[in-house]
Amino acid sequence: MCVRSCFQSPRLQWVWRTAFLKHTQRRHQGSHRWTHLGGSTYRAVIFDMGGVLIPSPGRVAAEWEVQNRIPSGTILKALMEGGENGPWMRFMRAEITAEGFLREFGRLCSEMLKTSVPVDSFFSLLTSERVAKQFPVMTEAITQIRAKGLQTAVLSNNFYLPNQKSFLPLDRKQFDVIVESCMEGICKPDPRIYKLCLEQLGLQPSESIFLDDLGTNLKEAARLGIHTIKRQGFAVLPKLVSNSWAQAIYPPYPPKVVRLQVNDPETAVKELEALLGFTLRVGVPNTRPVKKTMEIPKDSLQKYLKDLLGIQTTGPLELLQFDHGQSNPTYYIRLANRDLVLRKKPPGTLLPSAHAIEREFRIMKALANAGVPVPNVLDLCEDSSVIGTPFYVMEYCPGLIYKDPSLPGLEPSHRRAIYTAMNTVLCKIHSVDLQAVGLEDYGKQEVAEIAHQVLILFPAGDYIPRQVRTWVKQYRASETSTIPAMERLIEWLPLHLPRQQRTTVVHGDFRLDNLVFHPEEPEVLAVLDWELSTLGDPLADVAYSCLAHYLPSSFPVLRGINDCDLTQLGIPAAEEYFRMYCLQMGLPPTENWNFYMAFSFFRVAAILQGVYKRSLTGQASSTYAEQTGKLTEFVSNLAWDFAVKEGFRVFKEMPFTNPLTRSYHTWARPQSQWCPTGSRSYSSVPEASPAHTSRGGLVISPESLSPPVRELYHRLKHFMEQRVYPAEPELQSHQASAARWSPSPLIEDLKVCNCSAPDTGNMELLVRYGTEAQKARWLIPLLEGKARSCFAMTEPQVASSDATNIEASIREEDSFYVINGHKWWITGILDPRCQLCVFMGKTDPHAPRHRQQSVLLVPMDTPGIKIIRPLTVYGLEDAPGGHGEVRFEHVRVPKENMVLGPGRGFEIAQGRLGPGRIHHCMRLIGFSERALALMKARVKSRLAFGKPLVEQGTVLADIAQSRVEIEQARLLVLRAAHLMDLAGNKAAALDIAMIKMVAPSMASRVIDRAIQAFGAAGLSSDYPLAQFFTWARALRFADGPDEVHRATVAKLELKHRI
Ligand SMILES: Cc1cc2nc3c(=O)[nH]c(=O)nc-3n(C[C@H](O)[C@H](O)[C@H](O)COP(=O)(O)OP(=O)(O)OC[C@H]3O[C@@H](n4cnc5c(N)ncnc54)[C@H](O)[C@@H]3O)c2cc1C
Repeated sequence: MCVRSCFQSPRLQWVWRTAFLKHTQRRHQGSHRWTHLGGSTYRAVIFDMGGVLIPSPGRVAAEWEVQNRIPSGTILKALMEGGENGPWMRFMRAEITAEGFLREFGRLCSEMLKTSVPVDSFFSLLTSERVAKQFPVMTEAITQIRAKGLQTAVLSNNFYLPNQKSFLPLDRKQFDVIVESCMEGICKPDPRIYKLCLEQLGLQPSESIFLDDLGTNLKEAARLGIHTIKRQGFAVLPKLVSNSWAQAIYPPYPPKVVRLQVNDPETAVKELEALLGFTLRVGVPNTRPVKKTMEIPKDSLQKYLKDLLGIQTTGPLELLQFDHGQSNPTYYIRLANRDLVLRKKPPGTLLPSAHAIEREFRIMKALANAGVPVPNVLDLCEDSSVIGTPFYVMEYCPGLIYKDPSLPGLEPSHRRAIYTAMNTVLCKIHSVDLQAVGLEDYGKQEVAEIAHQVLILFPAGDYIPRQVRTWVKQYRASETSTIPAMERLIEWLPLHLPRQQRTTVVHGDFRLDNLVFHPEEPEVLAVLDWELSTLGDPLADVAYSCLAHYLPSSFPVLRGINDCDLTQLGIPAAEEYFRMYCLQMGLPPTENWNFYMAFSFFRVAAILQGVYKRSLTGQASSTYAEQTGKLTEFVSNLAWDFAVKEGFRVFKEMPFTNPLTRSYHTWARPQSQWCPTGSRSYSSVPEASPAHTSRGGLVISPESLSPPVRELYHRLKHFMEQRVYPAEPELQSHQASAARWSPSPLIEDLKVCNCSAPDTGNMELLVRYGTEAQKARWLIPLLEGKARSCFAMTEPQVASSDATNIEASIREEDSFYVINGHKWWITGILDPRCQLCVFMGKTDPHAPRHRQQSVLLVPMDTPGIKIIRPLTVYGLEDAPGGHGEVRFEHVRVPKENMVLGPGRGFEIAQGRLGPGRIHHCMRLIGFSERALALMKARVKSRLAFGKPLVEQGTVLADIAQSRVEIEQARLLVLRAAHLMDLAGNKAAALDIAMIKMVAPSMASRVIDRAIQAFGAAGLSSDYPLAQFFTWARALRFADGPDEVHRATVAKLELKHRI
């Protein structure tokens, strides 16, 4: 059974585990959890609908809000708005139609969020067949209740659909009485509606039990004398409702008032069972009759089992198939009072190493010998003649499985004990002596966890790198669109791999709901699901077992506890849980915990993406697949948050405080007179080491680079000295010639770095956000240097330093977007090789400020692009790319040219500008170094007033000042670059703003001093200084004026450093 099947199950249960519940439920009746206060005989059970029989609007809303990026709790808040006289309650009483409700409700939501909210789509989801389905566990319970001769009723605050029928996605035959608010014109908690229901049942209040998910409704029922159940333990409000208005809707219960509040249908059924005194669940949960295609020969199996168990006479063999386990079919068997589980390979031709049930059998057997609680495996039968394929048999382990990690209904001390037991059993697994149990070679094979469970040979000490590769591969195979966080993680994870400290058994899917607990004691009876087990890095298991700590309780596929008050619940926080583990294992706390969390969530995101992809191609069996897949982005953002945290940790530990050891290096005097005459470097580490450069400290000199990068650096240096500097005069004359608007053949010949603005920013944009088709069409030619590009955002009529001001429109028309707008300062647009314009315009001027903009890829040969003129910077045209003023008139672009999607433009521009800005700053440091080198050469050779200029104190002071300023800026730029590499552009926002603020001014001052030292020659085009100065000055505007960066720095300073 593959880990992803977990996400295909609406009830998130593994193949055989739920079967244990059958035993547990019986044992559980009358246990400490619930107390039956009444002594009367019940004659009816009355059910609320939404939240009891079908999912509640609150849960559906939570799911819809995640999918539609609507702030959590908005829908519920709007539903409750106005109380009795709000649109929701009037809709329930049929005082307004569905259309009227949606109008008012939509308006309410929009007012709350100050933007339009697509409430129609929420309503469609709420009433869709996919969502509005009766919980199977409730269907089963109703059947049992009726079989015992009790009546059943629905008492629901309900509404009419647009087709004038009431919304009742239930089988009416299951109920003796149905009372709906929209039919009666009155709603719960109005006592009249309860009385009406009782009247129709022909019963007294005390003869019935009422189930509802809302406290107010229960309270009224209790007041009328309808039996409910006393809930011990903590009071439960719906998780989404936590502020003051919620208190008004869900007033706190007075002590001792009895009620049954439904938060989880399965728990509710258990509670109901305890109250009624008979079981409401028949058969083995989550099993069904064996599928035709999955039948196995019973006779032959029975004979085999008789031999295996040494039984002479048996009754009939009962065989059921568990709902899940498509990869390895799993069966429940009952024979001669023995409860067994059989797990087999699927039929048909299999890849040689696929579906390795032998591994599961082997590890469980070995671990049992080492005292790890696992299901008791009985036999591995590799003889395919028995049932058609190899299989193994194990005992069916009764116990309790906690599916909700918040452990509702338990005392805080009990919860703590459960988590402690979970931690202890994990330590037990990780402490197994591999040699003693004969598992030393188990890690030589690791389940690749990709399609078809193919086994791949992996060394055990290489667990995390292999896992990262496997999951990247898996993700790529199922990618449907670019998810920026996934792209960042794919880059980041391999660069931050931890060194594996220990090699142990790794479970691979260690979670609370993979453990069978003793029903009364906090003791793990069995650890299930060993399919992904291997030998590897145990910390991966520890981090994975904390996933729930970081997920919200409303997360649709994997219930979390990050919005619960863990202290109040008694559940250890993730950090404490991890400390507990380290203490038990006798290990020092691991510092790179965040890496393991980032990796765990990355893995979950990849699984979700796989399910989503298969739902699109119709392969996934689950109706939940599509919905779960859409959560990939949410989970990948969580993973990235951990990567950022880890980046900051590494960053903070960098050896800034080490005393600097200084080294000077002088290169041979360059051939060109414009060449720098020497160079210096500072290093905080004596020697370059690959580990240091890839993982740790800030590299601040070429000597500290790793050998391959150092080699590259020296080659580049050599190339600059030998080829580039000598070519400068020729390039200058080309720029002044009539041919300047054609690219110089010399540049084409020299071109090696391909790192000009705005191409690098655009390439970065395509890498991060482009679809595969967009990359193929634009990125490859740009990377190959065959094409150039431009970025069009700034507009003459609005202050474009505030990108939200831009006015150019992008309108949808059939399968095209149509662009109209006026732009200027578009660098590179005049270059004849410019093939792509990355265009930013507005798709929705009414959306929130930062969701109005979108980015389109516009081929430069699209009709309607009219270049009006090249602009000049201090008279410099910057040919052949230039800076163009341009009009876009009815420019039609296919819809697939949109990057990421409508409304994502601001986010893209931000993502693009980080790398673009640091490139500018690096270039500025280059200009400054060149200017200082030229200045030094000049002042040494130029005589004035009888001595070289270099002997003038003011000149020396200028040189010193320039050196200091360059170094200050360089260190800041290196720090920003390092933080970008380690933690990403977003995390480095402050540092990027600081360097963009510092570098252009610093360069202007350094270049200005050099110009001064050169005399009038410095202003001429005989030297590059005038051009450097122009560029440095322009960069105080390009990519945002200084003031905007200053504002960012100040804002972040005030926010984080008070
Ligand atoms: C050489 C060069 C190349 C360029 N290339 C491109 C390109 O390829 N693509 C592109 O789209 N754009 C490009 N630009 C345009 C550049 O991005 C804009 O000039 C810049 O964003 C400022 O916008 P603006 O000119 O409309 O100035 P405005 O927004 O009108 O601002 C004017 C001034 O107001 C002040 N100001 C603004 N905001 C604040 C604030 N928050 N606090 C205090 N004062 C403030 C500043 O002094 C600012 O200079 C380029 C510009 C230059 C000079």
